This record gives sequence, C-alpha cells and structure tokens, in this order.
Amino acid sequence: MSIETKTTCPYCGVGCGVIAKVDDTGKVSVAGDPDHPANFGRLCSKGSALAETIDLDGRLLFPEIAGERAEWDEALDLVAKRFGETVTEHGPDSVAFYVSGQLLTEDYYVANKLMKGFIGSGNIDTNSRLCMSSSVAGHRRAFGSDTVPGTYEDLELADLVILTGSNLAWCHPVLYQRLAAAKSARPFMKIVVIDPRRTMTCDIADMHLAIRPDGDVALFMGLLAHLAESNALDRAYIATHTTGFENAVTAAASLSFDDVMERSGLAAEQLRAFFRLFETVEKSVTCYSQGVNQSASGTDKVNAIINCHLATGRIGRPGMGPFSLTGQPNAMGGREVGGLANMLAAHMAIEDRQDRDRVQRFWGSPVIAERPGLKAVDMFRAVAEGRIKALWIMATNPVVSMPDADAVAAAIKSCPFVVVSDVLRETDTTRHADILLPSLGWGEKDGTVTNSERRISRQRRFLPAPGEAKADWWQMAEVGRRMGFQGFDFRSPADIFGEHAALSAFENEGSRDFDIGAFSRIDGDTYQDLAPFQWPVSREGTTRTRFFADGDFYHPDGKARFMTIQAPETSRTNGRFGLTLNTGRIRDQWHTMTRTGKSARLSGHMAEPFAEIHPRDAMERGIRSAALVEVESPHGSVVVRALITERQARGSIFVPMHWNDQFAAKARIDALVPAVTDPVSGQPASKNIAITARPF
Ligand code: SF4
Repeated sequence: MSIETKTTCPYCGVGCGVIAKVDDTGKVSVAGDPDHPANFGRLCSKGSALAETIDLDGRLLFPEIAGERAEWDEALDLVAKRFGETVTEHGPDSVAFYVSGQLLTEDYYVANKLMKGFIGSGNIDTNSRLCMSSSVAGHRRAFGSDTVPGTYEDLELADLVILTGSNLAWCHPVLYQRLAAAKSARPFMKIVVIDPRRTMTCDIADMHLAIRPDGDVALFMGLLAHLAESNALDRAYIATHTTGFENAVTAAASLSFDDVMERSGLAAEQLRAFFRLFETVEKSVTCYSQGVNQSASGTDKVNAIINCHLATGRIGRPGMGPFSLTGQPNAMGGREVGGLANMLAAHMAIEDRQDRDRVQRFWGSPVIAERPGLKAVDMFRAVAEGRIKALWIMATNPVVSMPDADAVAAAIKSCPFVVVSDVLRETDTTRHADILLPSLGWGEKDGTVTNSERRISRQRRFLPAPGEAKADWWQMAEVGRRMGFQGFDFRSPADIFGEHAALSAFENEGSRDFDIGAFSRIDGDTYQDLAPFQWPVSREGTTRTRFFADGDFYHPDGKARFMTIQAPETSRTNGRFGLTLNTGRIRDQWHTMTRTGKSARLSGHMAEPFAEIHPRDAMERGIRSAALVEVESPHGSVVVRALITERQARGSIFVPMHWNDQFAAKARIDALVPAVTDPVSGQPASKNIAITARPF
C-alpha cells in the first residue's frame, strides 16, 4: 500500500501542486495534483523529476564546528554566544542574516522576528533581492502596497498577452502550458514576446520584438505616449483613481519616436504594430520577469508597464493587468513576513513609525529595527569592509549566485563568524563556514509557500528527517531562546503560521491588503489539511482574486501613482568589452543545480554550460561551433561551449546562470556580473553586462 501526500513543487514561482507517493519499499514517485488551482495536474520536467533528486548523497546530516562533527546544543550555544557578543560589542547592525526564497514562510517569519524585533537590526535580506525586488518596489510606488493585482486565469482570459523579459516556456513552464492551451482553444488570442533572444517562448508568439537590452523603459514610455496621442486612454479612471498622469505622459512624450526606435532597437513598423495592438485590444495582460527586474532600471521598467495599464484602466479586471512572475517558490511568502531588508512584517513598512510600533507591541519585543537594513549587495560589501562581523546564511549559495561572486567569496572568507544552514555538505558557500547546520529539505519539511498569484499552499512532509537535520525555523527559534529572548517557543509550523496570521490582522481592521487573520487560531489538524487559497481572506473566509478594478489603492489618498520616468542609456559596452552578456535559466536546471544536478534525466537536456552566440559575432571572433570559448568581463571569466545560433541577437551572448564549481570548472557566470544595482530596489543588474569573447 502506498501513502499519498499533497504538497507543492519547490522550484519556480508557478507553485504547482504535487502528489508525492511513497510505496511499501519507501520508493517515492510524484504526479501533478489535479485539484491544485496553479497547475490542475500538470508538471514540467523539473517537477516530474523531483523523486530523482531526494537521495541523501552529499547531504549535510550533522552539525559541524570548524569542520568537525558537533552536537546541536554545542553548535546552537556557540551561534547564540557569538551573535550576542558581537551585538553587545559592535551594535545590532554588526550582524546579518542572508536567507532565501527556498525557505518556507514559517522559516522566514522566525528569521525576520529574530533579526528585526529582538536583535534590533534590519540586516536580513534574501536571494529574492536578486529575483523580484524591483517588482516589489514598482508595486509599492504605484499601488502603495506590494500587491499582485491579478491571477493566472487572467493569462487564459486575455485577448493579448505580452511577455516581456520572460522566457515563460523554460522558466515558468506550467504557466506556459496553460497559456499555450488557451491560445490553442482561442486562436485569435495574440501573444507578444519582448526579449533580445528568440527563446522557446516565441514558438507560440504572434510577434517577437528582439529588444535591445534595457530598452523596455523607452518601449513602454513610447506606448504611453502613443495611447495618449491616439485617444485610447481611460480618462475617467485616470481622473478618479490616479495621480501624476500629466507629468508621466509629458515625460513619455518628450521621447521622440526615433528615440524609442534607437533605445529599443526596434524598427518603426514593429513599434507601430505593437502600439496598435495594445491600443485596440482591451483584454490585455503584461507579464514580466527577470528580464525586467534584473536591471539597473528594473523598478522604472515595472512602473513604465504599470503606467500603461493604469492609463487604460486595464487592471484587476478579468484578463487585464500587469503581472509580475516571481522566480522562486516562496519569494512571495518572504515578502509577506518582511523577509526583505526594507520591509517589516505582514506588508507593513519599516519606515512607518506606527507600523513599527504595532509590530513591536504585537511581538512584545524589546527593540524594533528603526530603519531598513542592508540589501544583498550592500550586505556583502559591509561583510568585506568588516562592518558585519557575524553572518548567518540560510538555504542559498551566494558564492555562486551573487554578482561579483569572487568578491562575495572573499568577503565571506574574511568574516570573523559565518554560520551556514543548508541541506548539502559541500557547496561553494559551505566551505567558508565556521558552523554548518543541517537543514531539512523538500519532502522532509513542513510549512507554506506563496506563488506568483498570491496563492498560499502547503508544503508537506512525507519523508523522515535524515541524520540530525532540523527545520530552519527551529534552528533560529533555538538561537533566539539561547540569546535570552521571549517569543520563540514555537512547537510547530502551525504555531508560527497562526502567529503570522494574527499579526496580519493585529489592529488592522481590514484596511491593509495582506490579511490572513482568519487563520490566527489555526490548530494542527486544520493546518495539516489547509487547501490552497489566495490572500487576503476576509473574516468570513472569502478570498480575493483581483485588485484595483474599483480604483481603491493603498496610498493614503486611495489613489494609484503614475511614475514619471526617464529612459536610461541602454548600452554598457566599452572598448574591448564590446559585447553584451545576458544571463538566465535553462529549462531543466534550477538555481545552482544543487538539487536538479542530481538527476541524469534533467542534466541530459543541456549537459554542460554554454554561450549562445550569433553566427556573425562568432565568425568575426574566430569562434567555432561546439568549441570552447572564454567569456570575460572586467570582473572575471568563464570557459564554456560555443552554441552558435540565430536565436541570439547580434552583439549579445547568453550564458546560463546555473553551473558552479562542483559541476564544471570555471563556469560561475556571476563572477562576471558587476555589483551594479537598481537605485530604488537594490536589485542587481544581472543582464546587459559588457564582455568580450574569444576562442579558448
Ligand atoms: Fe515546479 Fe515550476 Fe515546473 Fe510547476 S512549473 S512543476 S512549480 S518547476
């Protein structure tokens, strides 16, 4: 007899429901959950291969101190002692947590509570900073809150779906499957892909706009100006529910059509066709992902897109709205509990005195962080400069994934005290740890995650804890207790979820968008059976699918903000670094491959790291097909296989982000990425990097 457990895929932000089956022999198999509203039974290649990635090879199974096996008590006492001493001697901002969108919401909640409410610093940031923080900043600027206005169904109901900076087919495959099925059922639906590369997503596109890297701001400014000129605005919506339109449209109109052509790299006919399509098709959704977010102008890109939807009143109605697609399985859950350095908890603002006061009273905490902490890039800079002297890294591998990755490795190495909680013994980051703490992995841990459409789902345990591995929330709660703090006596994830829910409703009176207070008193059984739901949830238990069609926004005056934007310079090439690097995901690998790299089936898709190069660029540099090529920036270099293809635009090279030193020598692409960030969100610009390439 086999036992079935409903859980959620741990990879991308689609958040698919999975049924995990364990048979009499302990063998695990997985299938899509037909009842889960994100995927209705579908899975992609990564989700289908989950059972191939859960062996214990390479697992970290016991705590270690300085490379030697240790007891939990010994390790936790030491973490508490060193963090406590560092705070006493150098102040709360001398310590930091760097966490992850792989954490469950309950883990994130405890980490945030410990750092912001008890240690008293804002220095907790997450690898979600690398993923979608520009969307958070754009939402907050436009709506007054970090709220995704729509739902996945909108992609199926729309007559026009614009995908900008999103290779949906490979990065959010099940959503792509849903979109492809909708287009097949309604062939008149139009799909536009805006991407410098002709990706697999273009296979279902009616129009591919091979935009110049970072040309999106100019493109959407041009669109706003066109909508104004062609009288395609929803004047009543603009007048009643928004402010700032005149300034925004004046700025957009100051960019001539020729400027838009130049900055976007698109031809006049392409621009006119795209503008006309958006002008005439009311039911339109604009989805955006890392091609928008991972940019020095990422927040402006988000707001340029939102401006066009506000101007036409196409927001929060079925089949209409801007739509941020998050990369990670729980980037959204982290946002909900304040897992970013510039957020508090339950979507409250760290800069707001009343919010700080409310959270502190709810926690009964001795202190509360009074200002935002250091965002990821600044955090590792502070580590390098010796300002951060104790660092706890959890469920992430920054030596591979952070920009200027070699400098990050050196920073971690120089830090006086580094704790790493991970499932794996050997990663590029664990080798620099003073203390290693073994964490539970997918299938072993219990909690909740939130996907890109605000849907909270349970990740359930169906495997025993291996070795002495423990949940991340437990590790932090234990350290909190050992530092002498009250409020960390959680016995289970249900306890934490209930407290998180209660905080969302504390003195809230329904005035905020994020509210799951209906679950404040959740018991273990109800938590175990919790079905997927979208936030917010009313006291009566009804959920909300869409926001803002009614024009009720979260700024104090209740109105949305048009943002006045200037188009940035797009070219970053210079001198011998005359090519542009674009980094991204491939279909069958996830992050730094620590899990997907275990599956031979997944590794068979793309067996080694590669650089996609346009044939003319390859010819001019003497680069031959399938030969090794060295790609170099002023920060570092990689050696990868040349993949010569016309899918790649001239002048730019694509290299996947996944490979690390465990899987291929000299293939950490983030070693080439400079630590340049968006000035509003702090998100690193992981695309549009000046490089050179030559035969190796
Ligand atoms: Fe998992 Fe994303 Fe694939 Fe769904 S689409 S199965 S969440 S990787």
